[in-house]
Amino acid sequence: MSIPVPGRIEIITGPMFSGKSEELIRRLKRARIARQRVACYKPDIDLRYHRTSIASHGAQTHDASTVANVEDLRAALFPQLDQIEVVGIDEVQFFADAIIPLAVELVHLGKRVVMAGLDTTFANEPFGPVPNLMALADEVTKLSAVCMVCGAPAIHTQRLGQSQELVVVGATGLYEARCRAHFHPYADEHHSEQLELPAVS
Ligand code: ADP
Ligand code: MG
Repeated sequence: MSIPVPGRIEIITGPMFSGKSEELIRRLKRARIARQRVACYKPDIDLRYHRTSIASHGAQTHDASTVANVEDLRAALFPQLDQIEVVGIDEVQFFADAIIPLAVELVHLGKRVVMAGLDTTFANEPFGPVPNLMALADEVTKLSAVCMVCGAPAIHTQRLGQSQELVVVGATGLYEARCRAHFHPYADEHHSEQLELPAVS
């Protein structure tokens, strides 16, 4: 009787521009160097760059299939599952909670599941399934970006302008990475420095 290969769940999280996609791409490329077979997916909400790849803001790319939802992801993955060792998923925050049991199922089948996504929304609330996936993961990598106001490590995603819709994807200039001191959810952040409250005397 063969011993089953243990699977593994890895989460790469942090704000926008923190290098999540870069890190996912790096891990998937290394897996391929190790001759492991990789399948990568992303939700079709993220059409910034290309439908057949994931991309980082720093221009690294990796082949990926676009899927509409968790059911589509399952349907794309399972017919070829015995030929795949590593499953990559970018922008995982946009998937429904059904991604959680799917990830657990894959790990029990011996797969390495590497998922990248935002931990919090522009309103600083937990983003979709990511916090639960972090709790279930074997390894969590929380990256920081660079605050666009002061250069400090940034853990927040600041939405610029007034839109309160949860998902406004892709247009450059709509979001910035911000540190705690310069993150203002719900404020119009085009002039953040001027919005700082005066010190109470
Ligand atoms: P994420 O997937 O987390 O949004 P990416 O991997 O797409 O991040 O992009 C990371 C790259 O974005 C960095 O290597 C850097 O070249 C660029 N970048 C642009 N703005 C920032 C910022 N404020 N902080 C850090 N990196 C930034
Ligand atoms: Mg990304």
